[in-house]
Amino acid sequence: MTAPLTIIGSGMAGLGLLRQLRQLDPARPMTLITADSGDDYSKPLLSTGFAKRLPPTRLAARSALEVADELEAVVRPHTRVEAIDPAARTLKIGAETLPWSELVLATGAAPAWPFRVPEAIAGRVFSVNDLDDYRAFHAALEALGRPARVAVIGIGLVGCEFANDLAAGGHAVALVAPEPAPLPRLIPEALGHALGEAFREAGMALHTGRTLAGLEAEGEGVAVGLDDGASLSADLVLVATGLKPRTALAEAAGLRVSQRGIHTDRRLATSAPGIHALGDVACVEGINAMYVQPLLASAKALAKTLTGTPTPVAYGPWPVLVKTPLLPVVALPPARVPARWRLEGEGHDLTALAEDEEGRLLGFALTGRAVRRKVELARAAPPLLG
Ligand SMILES: Cc1cc2nc3c(=O)[nH]c(=O)nc-3n(C[C@H](O)[C@H](O)[C@H](O)COP(=O)(O)OP(=O)(O)OC[C@H]3O[C@@H](n4cnc5c(N)ncnc54)[C@H](O)[C@@H]3O)c2cc1C
Repeated sequence: MTAPLTIIGSGMAGLGLLRQLRQLDPARPMTLITADSGDDYSKPLLSTGFAKRLPPTRLAARSALEVADELEAVVRPHTRVEAIDPAARTLKIGAETLPWSELVLATGAAPAWPFRVPEAIAGRVFSVNDLDDYRAFHAALEALGRPARVAVIGIGLVGCEFANDLAAGGHAVALVAPEPAPLPRLIPEALGHALGEAFREAGMALHTGRTLAGLEAEGEGVAVGLDDGASLSADLVLVATGLKPRTALAEAAGLRVSQRGIHTDRRLATSAPGIHALGDVACVEGINAMYVQPLLASAKALAKTLTGTPTPVAYGPWPVLVKTPLLPVVALPPARVPARWRLEGEGHDLTALAEDEEGRLLGFALTGRAVRRKVELARAAPPLLG
């Protein structure tokens, strides 16, 4: 029997690729192995479900079984690949050794917690990075039977989206982060302050410029200690302090990896013959985009490559739409440090244009009613990977 083309990971990258491959090749044996439930869901929806109190079942479009059926593939949920052997073209799951003809790593990125959580409160501290995490956090909120006091640690895209969503769901939200204003890696500080103001006006408490000193049990809840000696009382803590590409398998197998992910060329080929990577785990010619559009473009290109038409991937000037309805934000961060940021607008309706020395547009950030300019500005901006 021919060894199957094997994909590790059932996130939007792994499943997206499987779907594209099946369209191009109806007959080839394919296997998808995943550590999580294997449900087909849209990760961006995770930070929109708490406002409407959506149960996890409403977020999953299809179960792993339905995916296997629809795409005529072997799908192995709740199965962790422990090692890969690029020379023998095999992988290991417990005592099993499975052969693969070509391997695709779509192992995503895992939450990075820069602090230790005492055992006693482990069940009250969460990250929500997949549907299983959503199930656990949703259950903890429901178990309280009343609006929760939630301390969100981190004010990047994920922290801000959950903060907005939880506040809209009636929960009392406190945000804690060392940076001066929300979305520090996406938008200039002035626009971040506008979002911070919108959050405060909606009743959230913002503890910016503060680092977490520690978490301790406090009755049924958690005492969140800050570096200025203050302490916040919370029922639950949501940690959103960034994601780290899951490179362990690739690194142990000797593939070229760095903090930014598994290194690939434009055809998504890693340093090992027969092994490709895409999605949050992949660093494509130095870029790890960690958004949906780049991974969908990668899935399309890689499906062509793996079915005999070598196709390099290209990323367009795709802005990120931050899901903070309290103040809409759109950002296209410049690929390099700009010569200047030019600010326009007033109140919460702000435009920031990142320009080079000659005044050429490198990127932009928009808040409030200024988000209407996103299409016009994206047309004028350079592609992320042209
Ligand atoms: C809350 C939130 C909101 C977001 N909103 C947006 C948005 O609005 N727009 C946007 O463009 N992007 C958004 N993103 C980012 C986007 O969702 C991600 O870039 C994308 O979903 C990543 O998909 P992936 O398949 O690469 O990784 P993942 O979804 O992380 O999937 C990785 C898969 O690999 C499996 N796996 C890992 N290790 C192993 C192993 N050893 N063995 C077997 N399986 C393994 C996991 O179980 C999982 O199935 C958001 C992200 C979050 C967290």
